Amino acid sequence: MKIGIYGGTFNPPHLGHLVSARFAMDHLGLDRLIFVPAGDPPHKELPRNAPPAQTRLELVKLAADSLLLREKIEVSDLEVRREGKSYTADTLRVFRERYPGDELWLLMGADMFLTLQNWKRPEEICSLAHLAAFARTERDTGEMLEIQGKYLDKAFGARSVVIQLPQIIPVSSTQIREMLAEGEGRKYLPPAVYGYILRNKLYGTHADLRALSDSDLRACSLSMVYAKRHAHILGVEEEAVKLARRWGGDETGARRAGILHDCTKYWTREEHLACCEAYGMALDPQERENEKLLHAKTGALLARHLFGEKEAVCQAILWHTTGKADMSLLEKIIYIADYMEPNRAFDGVEKLRKLAYTDLDRAVALGLRMSIEDLKRRGCVIHGDTQGALDWLIQYGKGN
Ligand code: ATP
Repeated sequence: MKIGIYGGTFNPPHLGHLVSARFAMDHLGLDRLIFVPAGDPPHKELPRNAPPAQTRLELVKLAADSLLLREKIEVSDLEVRREGKSYTADTLRVFRERYPGDELWLLMGADMFLTLQNWKRPEEICSLAHLAAFARTERDTGEMLEIQGKYLDKAFGARSVVIQLPQIIPVSSTQIREMLAEGEGRKYLPPAVYGYILRNKLYGTHADLRALSDSDLRACSLSMVYAKRHAHILGVEEEAVKLARRWGGDETGARRAGILHDCTKYWTREEHLACCEAYGMALDPQERENEKLLHAKTGALLARHLFGEKEAVCQAILWHTTGKADMSLLEKIIYIADYMEPNRAFDGVEKLRKLAYTDLDRAVALGLRMSIEDLKRRGCVIHGDTQGALDWLIQYGKGN
């Protein structure tokens, strides 16, 4: 197996890190890539207001997840857990023991590669892993890196490869920190990393979470879920806005409810219950047991209490999973957008899509029926609100 190891301070991780990591994976044919955020970096002083190592670890997890290669990419907390300076030689020794028969590749940008002789125990580093170096700016020429590779070979027996990146992102974490404090820099960050920074007011950002722009709200929501769910969230947002336009509904409300509807999707049951308890939301026994039902409740609670959304938006999130009798237009829009957004693929979705634009009530009724049938097939209990929603539509002649 070929394993890449990509260390750094990652304060914060940015697109320069991700683009180089992703290309190096393909170029070297890596089976696995491990990001290793430094606990206490030996070669640079962390700024006084740097977030704790644990927070940088979280940011790197979000950044790595955004590459959508969960089975191949890992983030190691090895250096974050280790006391004292984070020396690469020590880290590589651990990985060598963990992967005795495998090929280790240490990935690094030109600044690191050109100064490797000054690191602690460079000969040990070179004996434990191959080196892969890439440019960070246009000034880092291939020739320069090749010369350094030869020097490191002579001095320490290093085996190195110079990787020509197809795209250089000439930015550093230092520059991004400065930009963030000025309200800029988001274009260099995966949206989820930017959202996490906003939510936690890192690097001098001071967004009012109760008055976020649509794009900042989107970044915050994406930072709360795994990247594999991002396409769905964006799909619901897009579909909800289209439906609001079609049916004369509140487009902004539809957009914001779409953005937030799944923000607590990956919470544990304990997290859901604690949130409901904190905000005094009553739950029935069925809801207490089922995360799928709980995420609609806690999503609505966060929309109201954390993000300051208006009541209609919170209600649309609250009912997006079960539905309920006598739904508002926005509630119907979010319910059905969640069901048939462009990424959904199941038997009958096309019919549902058409119906959503010709007869919204009948589309909701069809969605409810499909949901009930699916739950029955899987032996699940059907929540009373779902049956109530369908019964209400039937009663008013819109159930079929
Ligand atoms: P800082 O500005 O805080 O010094 P940095 O941007 O240099 O941070 P690090 O986390 O220290 O980021 O870098 C980790 C690794 O990523 C190093 O090997 C570095 O050379 C590489 N790297 C950093 N930025 C880029 C970039 N824009 N393109 C390619 N590689 C990069």
